Amino acid sequence: MELNKYSTEEIEELSLAARDYATAHGLLFVDAAQKKEDTNGATQVPLTLFPSPVPRNAFIQGVSVQKAYNKLYAKIANDFEFLKTHLESITKYDKFMDKLWDLYMKHLDANEKLKPELRQPLALGIFRSDYMVNKDDQEVSSKQVEFNTISVSFGGLSKMMANLHFYCSSSGLYKKTLEHNYLTVNTSITGICSGISSAYNAYCEQAKGITSTKLHATERIEPIVLFVVKDSERNICDQRLLEYDLLSRFKIRSKRVAIRHLDLLMRDDESNKLYYKTPNGIFEVAIVYYRSGYALDDYPTNKEWEIRLMIENSLAIKCPTIATHLAGSKKIQQVLAESNALEKFVHGDELKAIESTFADMYPLNDTPRGQEGIKLALENSDDFVLKPQREGGGNNTYGKDIPDLLNKLPKEEWDSYILMRYIKSLPSQNYILKGSVAEKYDVVDEIGILGTIVWNTKTAEEINNGNAGYICRTKPVSSHEGGVATGYASLSSVDLI
Ligand code: ADP
Ligand code: MG
Ligand code: MG
Repeated sequence: MELNKYSTEEIEELSLAARDYATAHGLLFVDAAQKKEDTNGATQVPLTLFPSPVPRNAFIQGVSVQKAYNKLYAKIANDFEFLKTHLESITKYDKFMDKLWDLYMKHLDANEKLKPELRQPLALGIFRSDYMVNKDDQEVSSKQVEFNTISVSFGGLSKMMANLHFYCSSSGLYKKTLEHNYLTVNTSITGICSGISSAYNAYCEQAKGITSTKLHATERIEPIVLFVVKDSERNICDQRLLEYDLLSRFKIRSKRVAIRHLDLLMRDDESNKLYYKTPNGIFEVAIVYYRSGYALDDYPTNKEWEIRLMIENSLAIKCPTIATHLAGSKKIQQVLAESNALEKFVHGDELKAIESTFADMYPLNDTPRGQEGIKLALENSDDFVLKPQREGGGNNTYGKDIPDLLNKLPKEEWDSYILMRYIKSLPSQNYILKGSVAEKYDVVDEIGILGTIVWNTKTAEEINNGNAGYICRTKPVSSHEGGVATGYASLSSVDLI
């Protein structure tokens, strides 16, 4: 899309069309602070007026490696020794990791004590592998920024975002018609919901033989999917779009519960089933789908940790399990990029395909690789990003700030961070529409490839493994970070070039 071919009037017309489409199709955040009696506090998600130009080979690379990634992370989550070797030591310096690890240990202990038929071996993963397109002398390829295993967002809105750009194309507002085929049509909503429904069916099959003498008076027959959301959740539309698809295509009902109200959950000792109490009855919970819980402030008191443990121990299928949550930590991503680590889990073409997406990563410890990392962090910081074990954006340190931060920390704590080479993406231009104002920026894009997997953690059998579309986020080159919810980036879609 050559933006200089568009007049100011044409951009204005496009902006208006995009705004109306966004409002009509739920491309919105709900801002609790703005909520008043006469408004619902909805504001438009920042979005691009044009799709992002993404090299076709780099996009196909990410799409075609996703199922191998799904399998890889399922296997890591199954591997207690691997998680222990690489994560236990950093719990000393990282409070959140410490809490997660403690929960994992308590869960393993409680599970041992359960009757085998009341344990839940099935797990659901809704994963997103994020990439930036790296260009160097040899090639243009996708390099992984990070792999997310908990509360993966924007699967709902990104489908609408791709539809918005197709709408602008088909209504003649672009000077070029967009390609509309199996690669570019975004299956993010249907893909995620198909994964959830596969786990749901497996739960129903398993749970129908497990009965209890209690709770029957007000119990509702159909189990539900329970979305666990933040207290003042902004990303409601993104989540609701998934709920609507689950209901319309699969007749699966869902409920939403804010962390604050988690005490409406209860576990029946006899069946180990999880129940959710609502004004119109008590629902058996088939799947607990976390759309929060990835940050320390999602657990204001010990009560939230206790309830997460109760959920973890119950028969409900967790998305993700605590082990899968831990597998998604940045430390594991860095360990995988060290030589030989991948060979434990994947082989042949799958191994090569996964490896081709790795950017250089280093630990900061006493190992030879760690020493190399420390030297680079202190002397070559401009080429690197320093990351703690955190999610949700806004946590990283860049360039010159890296040595400054490290020098303030005791050396033992350095290893709870990972060092990663800064991916140099190809900038392009786009208009970012915030509210009614469209402004032109030099931008870079981050593509997230979505996938779902249902597997048996005991037998390692894969019940379902599939792709689930993509998300595309676009940010001004002047900003290091790329989160949409955190206000750094805008939503976009892809135009393969
Ligand atoms: P989080 O889990 O908080 O989203 P990320 O690893 O995705 O953490 O980092 C946040 C943002 O920082 C990314 O969306 C991206 O914009 C930027 N970023 C992270 N790693 C790199 C990298 N290696 N090169 C360039 N930018 C990066
Ligand atoms: Mg993340
Ligand atoms: Mg990220």
